[in-house]
Formats: sequence, structure tokens, C-alpha cells
Amino acid sequence: MLIFVRNRKTTTLSKYQLGLDYAKQQDQNDKLAAYRDKFHIPKDEHGNDLIYMTGNSLGLQPKSTKYYVEQELEDWAKLGVEGHTEAKNPWLPYHEFLTYNMAKIVGAKPIEVVVMNTLTANLHLMMVSFYQPINERYKILIESDAFPSDKYAVESQLRHHGYNDKEGLILWKPREDEELLRYEDLEELLESHGHEIALIMIGGVNYYTGQFFDLKRITTLAHKYGCKVGFDCAHGAGNVELNLHDSDADFAVWCTYKYLNSGPGSLAGCFVHEKHAFNKDLNRFTGWWSHNKKTRFNMRDEFDVLPGAEGWQLSNPPILSMAAIKASLDIFNEVGMEKLVKKSRILTGYFEFLLKQLGENVIKIITPSNQEERGCQLSIQVLNADKTLHHKLTKAGVISDWRQPDVIRCAPVPLYNSFEDIYLMVEKLKAILNAN
Ligand SMILES: *Cc1c(COP(=O)(O)O)cnc(C)c1O
Repeated sequence: MLIFVRNRKTTTLSKYQLGLDYAKQQDQNDKLAAYRDKFHIPKDEHGNDLIYMTGNSLGLQPKSTKYYVEQELEDWAKLGVEGHTEAKNPWLPYHEFLTYNMAKIVGAKPIEVVVMNTLTANLHLMMVSFYQPINERYKILIESDAFPSDKYAVESQLRHHGYNDKEGLILWKPREDEELLRYEDLEELLESHGHEIALIMIGGVNYYTGQFFDLKRITTLAHKYGCKVGFDCAHGAGNVELNLHDSDADFAVWCTYKYLNSGPGSLAGCFVHEKHAFNKDLNRFTGWWSHNKKTRFNMRDEFDVLPGAEGWQLSNPPILSMAAIKASLDIFNEVGMEKLVKKSRILTGYFEFLLKQLGENVIKIITPSNQEERGCQLSIQVLNADKTLHHKLTKAGVISDWRQPDVIRCAPVPLYNSFEDIYLMVEKLKAILNAN
């Protein structure tokens, strides 16, 4: 059976077919297929590869990571403190080795990007600078189903400045019986509340629905009303082309342990738009790592802030974690986001095609069907499902993510998921649903 799917807003005509042979053939034709072998794929007790669909939660480990981390362990053992300058990759400027490749991934200029701290910590540091309430302009707008850490962080900033965290928060909500957010509703919110809003903070790709927002559109609208704009791109970095510089957003933050495969709790990324790079008057929290590199070790100088995103660093960073990030970024740099997104769209389109065969009365895909408005993740709502479905999938060797009340989130990651993975996942889901 041959089915043609014309994707909205694109001119590519992708054809997908049913059957395992087709999946295998797609893997054979896939120019990026070899990258799967560069990752450790978790296995079941018989040594068979699990079907890993949670790269949106914790990305898999590149086989090279071990060697990057070992290099730093060795240099530390061999050199001690001298490693700061004498290590193969000297530790003093180590974060700089990550900047260029990270900037490319998120579509930014190197001066706009730094790897430091963890995600929520960076979000707070950014709000110290870009949430500057004054008079009646003190509210923060977020999406109603924001990731909990983001919501808690924003609420605590409101309290920190002496405001009520309920009254000061404006929620961009989906309409009744809808899951996705509409720009018309944001426009309306801004029309009536724009003058009260100091900051708009949105998840660039919503963690629950997988909706990828038009960052530039949101920023243009927000700036028109005099609001600052920041994005949490935890589900965007390494997944979609973010074009942060062109979006004109004031700041963005993201983690590196999801699509960027840099290990549990690894360091995070931070973007500050170039237009703020030399603004020394911008309020910020500082430490010795935000100070001029040339005079940092004079120790007694007056504070002299570094230009660009580096000027928000606090501490000398954990090199072992950065080594893992370096390993991953080298892979991303080799492939490039363009090729990755191209494969991703085909892979997720195939996933969507197979899921639709299960019947729209059984499953509903919440994620936008327009590929410009999503990354690789599909959020699948299953009729009458409860958490037992997730247990059964896990038992069948599918690692997926369950969100109450009835949604499975699956992210076919183009670097290491295969067409065969997708095929088998849907077959297993079908078998479980049929057995019910
Ligand atoms: C994963 C994620 C987080 C997690 O924050 P940490 O500070 O890394 O623990 C926060 N916000 C969003 C949107 C996320 O997707």
C-alpha cells in the first residue's frame, strides 16, 4: 500500500508505506543511520536493544563521551592544578571550546552564548537582568501548561520583588477543549495587559504538547508592547532550528541532557541577545567568572564585567560535565542541524503516519500536525488509557514517557532512533491496545 502525505506549508511530498520491510529499507537509505552506532543503546535482560523513545527526557550516551571525560581525569591526575593551563584542553578557557558549536545549534552568534550552571539557575540569573518590574509594569506572562520548574521560578521572582505570585502571573491558555495555544489569544492578552507585563517567558517547544512556537512572532509582538522576552528552549535545543539571534529574544536558556545528550544533570546553555552584550548597566548577579579574563587573577581589581553572555557566569565550571558536552557537540557539529532536522521531519512524519493507522477514535496526536510547529516529539493521547498502558509498553521493551492523565510522549531522535524502532513501537502499541 502506498500513501502520499502532503505536508501543510511545505512542498515536499513524502511517501510512507506500511510494513517492516519498508522501515528496514528506509534505514538502509538513511545517510545518518550510521550515527546510531555512535551511541550506547540501552538493552533488555537478553541483550536486545530497547526501543528508546525518551531522548526528550534524557538523551543517550555517545560512545565517545567516556574518552572525553577520561582525558580530563587523566590530565587532572597527571597535572593537578597545572591542568588549568597545561591540560590538553586547558580548563581555564574550557567553556570557550563549547561556545561556537553550541551557538550554531541554537542559531546564535558566539558572543550571545555561554554554557554554565544548570537550566533553572540560568533562568533565575536571566530574570535578575530581564525581569525589571517598574510601577504598573510588573507582571510575567507564561504559557498555562509551562514546565513546573519554570512556573515555580517565575512565581518566586514575583515574590522576590514583593508581588503576589498569583495576581502577578498572566497565563496564555488553550481554548476550551483544545490543547494547543493560539497566537490570536496571545495578541488579545497583550492588547489588554501589555502595559502591565514586564516579561514574557515561554517554553520554545512546550514539553507536554510538543508545540514549537514561532519565537520571532512572539518576540516581535511582545517588544511592540514594551515587554522583555525569554524562552526556555530545553525541548528545542538540538531538536529544532531555533534561530535565536534572528528571533530577537532578549534571552534564552536550555539544558544539555535532553536532545543534547550530555548526561544527567549536565550543565546548561544560556543566550543573551547581542544587543545587550555591551550594556554594563544591566543589573545582574556576578562572580569572578563574569569578570574580565585578563585581570581575573589579579584578585584585587574592581569588578570589570565581560561582554556578551560570558558576563553572566559566576563560577569556574565543572570540567568533567563540560567534557561530556564537548563530546556531544562534536557529533552535532559533524552532522549539522539542517540535516538532522531534515531526517527528524521524515522520521516523525513516518511515526505519525503509522499512529494514524491505529484509528483516530483510539488515539489522538496532540502535537501539531504541521511540521513547522513541532520537533520530533509526538504527544499521543490514548482513549480510556491509564498508567497500565505505560507499564505494558515498558514490559514490551518500549521506553516512553507517561504524563497524567492519558498521554504518552515519544520522541524519535534522528541521531539514534531508526525507522525500525518506530515501526516496532507502533506494532507493540497496537498489540497492547488490541489485547484490551
Ligand atoms: C527539563 C526542563 C527543566 C528542568 O530544569 P533543570 O533546572 O534542568 O532541572 C526546566 N524547564 C523545562 C521547560 C524543561 O523542559
